[in-house]
Amino acid sequence: MAGEFELIKRHFHYPVSHSVLGVGDDAALMQPRPGMQLAVSTDMLVAGRHFFADADPFLLGWKTAAVNISDMAAMGAEPRWITLALALPEADEAWVGAMARGFRDCCEAYCVDWVGGDTTRGPLNLCATIFGEVSPDKAVRRTGANHGDDLWVSGWPGMAALGLAHLQDRLELVSDWREACLERLHRPLPRVALGLALRGVASAMLDVSDGLCGDLSHILEASEVGAILDETLLPLEPLLAACKRTEAATKALLSGGDDYELLFAAPREQRGHVEAIGRHLELPLHRIGRILDKPGLWLQRGDGVAEALQAGGFDHFQTD
Ligand code: ADP
Ligand code: MG
Repeated sequence: MAGEFELIKRHFHYPVSHSVLGVGDDAALMQPRPGMQLAVSTDMLVAGRHFFADADPFLLGWKTAAVNISDMAAMGAEPRWITLALALPEADEAWVGAMARGFRDCCEAYCVDWVGGDTTRGPLNLCATIFGEVSPDKAVRRTGANHGDDLWVSGWPGMAALGLAHLQDRLELVSDWREACLERLHRPLPRVALGLALRGVASAMLDVSDGLCGDLSHILEASEVGAILDETLLPLEPLLAACKRTEAATKALLSGGDDYELLFAAPREQRGHVEAIGRHLELPLHRIGRILDKPGLWLQRGDGVAEALQAGGFDHFQTD
């Protein structure tokens, strides 16, 4: 069984492309580009809570990097450097190698240097910290949504939740759609290019990790506004095709987590601009509602009646 230093040397030590010094010394050295602000975020994945202990290690490594990179996308920041702190119950070399390949593949796909971390024995836990760069005053915060802004979401949120429901035997998915849903669950694609394109366009933004309504409520609270979603605008098509049940599809879209799509508000006059960004990136962007000046969250049903929505996001503490 390899010791800690062997594991680090074999699996965590990669060349860096835009860092002064990577793995191997007491600290990494990075030089942000002149005048740029640093954006920093940490995300931890715990066995039994965020993933099954027998999860595929390659995909787990990918996802650990991806959820961190997604936080940079959500700020309109460019992800640049990442560290990984790892607690392992045992030094299972095949497992560590596969996990490191997944983590590294994701870093490479998004031009992120893996510059360090820590490795220790303990209950399985992966905790990454990502460092990004953003021009001063260009970061898109949660606080800027205004009355009348359109509300948008990227991609097809809810597919990852359907994949999870399938794995947990709570739902049967149509076989043609199964792989696509599981892919979204296991290998999220952080929307970095979209986040960067929305600087100066979106008034508020975040990535959907815990569920659309729950995460939307963070924007509403931070911006001191409310919102109404339009049922007829919700991008339900692939969800309905995958599970054939309107209620399950709607629930997956409104409260399913794990898709890491971007949810953002943008002034109405930016509508054409947002649509052009979606076309340019070949990424569907769906206008799903609008920001209101009074607090609260509503769903305007197809028949015109507005019903109040629960935040309904997956809250780690309330569900215990
Ligand atoms: P120290 O005792 O100074 O904390 P470590 O032995 O923990 O040093 O780590 C040695 C080097 O290996 C450091 O550069 C550290 O960043 C790197 N390292 C340790 N664990 C990881 C990991 N999981 N991923 C990337 N680099 C790691
Ligand atoms: Mg250390």
